[in-house]
Amino acid sequence: MLQRAALLLAAGGAFALAVLASADDPADGPKQLPVPEMAFNEVKEIAPGVFFRLSSISATDPKVPFGGSNHTWIVFKDYVVVVDANFPKEAADVVADIKKTTKKPIKYVLDTHHHGDHAYGNAVWAKEGARIIASKPTARLLKANGPKQWEDAAKDRDDLKKSELKQVDVPFDDEYELKDEAQHVVFRAFGHSHTAGDAVAYLPRHKILCTGDACVNGAFNYMGHSDSASWVKCLEQMEKLEVDLICPGHGKVTRKDLLATQKRYFVELRAAVKKGIDGGKTVEQITAGLDFPWYKEWTGAGVAETKMNKDNVGHVYSELMGKVDHGRLGARPAPLDWRAGVAPRRDPAGE
Ligand SMILES: [Zn+2]
Repeated sequence: MLQRAALLLAAGGAFALAVLASADDPADGPKQLPVPEMAFNEVKEIAPGVFFRLSSISATDPKVPFGGSNHTWIVFKDYVVVVDANFPKEAADVVADIKKTTKKPIKYVLDTHHHGDHAYGNAVWAKEGARIIASKPTARLLKANGPKQWEDAAKDRDDLKKSELKQVDVPFDDEYELKDEAQHVVFRAFGHSHTAGDAVAYLPRHKILCTGDACVNGAFNYMGHSDSASWVKCLEQMEKLEVDLICPGHGKVTRKDLLATQKRYFVELRAAVKKGIDGGKTVEQITAGLDFPWYKEWTGAGVAETKMNKDNVGHVYSELMGKVDHGRLGARPAPLDWRAGVAPRRDPAGE
């Protein structure tokens, strides 16, 4: 554990240097990028050559269809780089949207993590000629668990029945950089957050951070594959970056303080669960006693009262009781029943 922490620190230091070095870049300006106001499925150029698509999502309104992950694409001199692959159906919609903004070929697609709404569209992108890039843990999780999870998810999704699970082409360790005179993107895996393999895309010239589900805005954030203690540390690493805009995995583009909001949820949840455990309470008793008004305001009351309590409290409780073997969540090849000592349960479709 110590060794891993030291590695993280060392890697974080190198990254910070790269960020500092980019401060001399002539493309950097003193002006902050504006926060775009966007409708669902709308595309906006949020910085020169950088496009964002807001996918539909509502945890409280059943009339809003789930459009999978958000997307950012970056138009380099000769090619396009896309953040997140989404499900096959949505991937095809996004390919069509990208072609309205540029004629350049899509060369790389980053799977920010292995979940279906971020990775199951890989085959659609590969048909466009793209190479799929992801952190090594994400590549490993898609290989070890992907086929079974895909099969389960396909029961509820026709687009999966008509497509296939495409594996990662370019796995990377901590960092992968793409740079030309037009754009500069650094893919970075900070450590175990929402999953063991989360990677973000940082655009130092524009001070934009695309976080995948390591940070979402107002959407329920599934913790079942997470290491909540490590997640807090990873968000703290991200806070060290110079950031004007966060493009989250789900929810609207916003300012950097979203990292602190997402972190606050985990910190307060962990503290509340710890207090409950120390007081000899059960998961149900802890759940019933939780009250985070700010969280309800951020995510919507329905989410706070149902999903937060049912899934996430249970996960943190298991973690603090020493019943989650985080290594088996993806640090090495893992079976699906990853919760040591806890009956395996079916994850939501696409998770
Ligand atoms: Zn996810």
